[in-house]
Amino acid sequence: MLHIGCHLSAAKGFMAMGRQALSISADTFQFFTRNPRGGNAKALDPQDAQRLRELMEGHAFAPVLAHAPYTLNGCSADEAVRSFALRTMQDDLQRMEYLPGNMYNFHPGSHVGQGVERGIEQIAAMLDAMPLQDIATTVLLETMAGKGSEVGGTFEELRAILEAARCGDRLGICLDTCHVYDAGYDIVGDLDGVLARFDAVLGLERLKAIHLNDSKNPFASHKDRHEKIGQGSLGLEALTRIVRHPLLRHLPFYLETPNELDGYAAEIALLREAAAS
Ligand code: FE
Ligand code: FE
Ligand code: ZN
Repeated sequence: MLHIGCHLSAAKGFMAMGRQALSISADTFQFFTRNPRGGNAKALDPQDAQRLRELMEGHAFAPVLAHAPYTLNGCSADEAVRSFALRTMQDDLQRMEYLPGNMYNFHPGSHVGQGVERGIEQIAAMLDAMPLQDIATTVLLETMAGKGSEVGGTFEELRAILEAARCGDRLGICLDTCHVYDAGYDIVGDLDGVLARFDAVLGLERLKAIHLNDSKNPFASHKDRHEKIGQGSLGLEALTRIVRHPLLRHLPFYLETPNELDGYAAEIALLREAAAS
């Protein structure tokens, strides 16, 4: 059974997302913890969180994935931006305690000219300020396309962050199919080879979630623009091999394709059929 969902708007609260997921035959979803461009999160309603937990249990949901705002950059050259990132992640993780057992994904950051090594140190320092031992949420680093000065465009950079952080062994990875293909990992022509590489560098046991996206750009373009499933450079066949792969099919898949709800419903139906056949 394929665990799949899509990115949903959190504007109407947790339960609304749970119901929306059910309405499109999803059994998980992703949401932004706050405005993707940053800013304050709205007040959390513990009863709303509790109702979602019951819905998830009743419908055998896979863990849901909270996504940090894009503006969160723990390796900015600007100390104010770094401390905003730290406070935002702390606050997000505190709020996630109302939904125990789920996951929180963030983009490692952009070193903006400071160099990858400095960036890695700063990201690890931010993670070390999180109570990772004491929370019921698994924090995930996302694989990036390597655009601009992004850190995390290679498996080796992600490993360096995990090694530099004291609580590195508590962290997981979210693999974004558009990002890794744009970064130069050929998951279309050599999926087994890329997974072997992932296993050698990071360990497949670290892989906790997949962002399932097609890409608007060609292989190794370092661009990061998501396309609808089957309409980009990865194509439906390659994406089907991913959801069916014996090393991946147990994982939860989250669509971040450019769609409204009906488009997501159609992609979920398509992928469920492809996975079952
Ligand atoms: Fe992301
Ligand atoms: Fe993503
Ligand atoms: Zn992306």
